[in-house]
Amino acid sequence: MKKSVAIIGGGPTALIAAYFLSDQFAVTIYEKEKTIGRKFLVAGKGGFNLTNAKKGNDLIASYSPSVKVRNPLTTFSNKHLRMWLAQLYIPTYEGSSGRVFPEEGIKPISVLRRIEYNLLEKGVHINTGYELTDFNNEQLTFANGELIKADYSILALGGASWKKTGSNGNWIHLFNQKGIKTSPFEAANCGITVKWGPDFLVAHEGKPLKNIAINLSGQELKGEATITHYGLEGNIIYPLVSLIRNELNKNGSVLIEIDLKPHNTAEELKIRLGNSNNYKDKLQLSPQKNALLKQFTTKAEYIDHSVGIQKVKALPICIEGLRPIDEAISTAGGLDFESLNDNYSLKAFPNVFCAGEMINWDAPTGGFLLQGCFSTGFWVAKHIALNEA
Ligand SMILES: Cc1cc2nc3c(=O)[nH]c(=O)nc-3n(C[C@H](O)[C@H](O)[C@H](O)COP(=O)(O)OP(=O)(O)OC[C@H]3O[C@@H](n4cnc5c(N)ncnc54)[C@H](O)[C@@H]3O)c2cc1C
Repeated sequence: MKKSVAIIGGGPTALIAAYFLSDQFAVTIYEKEKTIGRKFLVAGKGGFNLTNAKKGNDLIASYSPSVKVRNPLTTFSNKHLRMWLAQLYIPTYEGSSGRVFPEEGIKPISVLRRIEYNLLEKGVHINTGYELTDFNNEQLTFANGELIKADYSILALGGASWKKTGSNGNWIHLFNQKGIKTSPFEAANCGITVKWGPDFLVAHEGKPLKNIAINLSGQELKGEATITHYGLEGNIIYPLVSLIRNELNKNGSVLIEIDLKPHNTAEELKIRLGNSNNYKDKLQLSPQKNALLKQFTTKAEYIDHSVGIQKVKALPICIEGLRPIDEAISTAGGLDFESLNDNYSLKAFPNVFCAGEMINWDAPTGGFLLQGCFSTGFWVAKHIALNEA
């Protein structure tokens, strides 16, 4: 008789682990919601970057702490992930800035259904409406009163944002009660709050600030942000969130500097502006960039070109806070690595493995999050299989 693996959670981490264990083990997934993969589908409403094409050390360096996820990422890299997806008839392509998407026309629900179909074909049982309330090395307890015995368990319970998808992070209390070390959840890839002037949003809410650079504490990032009613969101913001959080904790607010023309020097811009005060046309500033410049520049500064150009190259904007955890694309915090063995089993319960966003690693958007989940899901599956080899 096959040994049994119970996998708790129905996100991408759980699904890949189930796939790779199902030939050797009797695998059952237990998900507390009525359906699986709800956050995966939410991810699909945005960019749906399944992974990122960065190679080798560049890929690994996108994660923190990278040393703790190096082994899973090299064992099941973005190349392996794309091959696996292709095997399931989910072809992918590399888009701009290395983001990897399902080929055009393939909807997120089709990706999820394709994976689910393959799991069912391989004999995996999927039980929804099962909320884990306790566990030990051999047994799982669910809110409906059922006790399930399993040779191995995998907990893939997710982070703590977008609670309506089921990923509410409540499991952290159970872990704390058991003396398993965790860190409080924090919003990771999330928006920042900026106080806009009265009329600014009327014309510019939802519009992009393309090709900008942001400087913070000597770190410069290039990319794009979107103007929102609360401040700014986007791929240039997310990698700065942990730095911003530290500064906010220290000082209550933080100044970032936005370079509106990162591809031009101040000298070049000065020549282009000449005697004109028409920054918008002479420097080819988009309406959003021009409005942003005017928001944070006095008339006197605007007219004094040496100051005005300095503002174009380093516009100081005060960040007053981060958006709430529930709105974040991902959360930092969760299960600490020191609670885990190298194979990601719990030191306190060696037959219970953990994987995915519930562990305290962090990465920017752009496909790195799902890659981290798939890689760590594969990693625990591989080690459970090795235990029985
Ligand atoms: C708006 C948005 C856009 C995103 N876009 C992208 C993107 O484009 N690319 C990318 O790489 N990542 C993206 N992500 C992040 C990505 O979706 C997550 O990192 C990923 O889904 C985490 O996978 P997981 O399996 O670890 O956890 P989850 O997908 O969160 O799944 C955990 C599951 O566990 C279940 N669960 C929790 N507690 C229990 C319990 N006690 N008992 C039983 N079940 C339980 C939950 O209901 C949930 O279904 C996005 C996220 C959001 C919110």
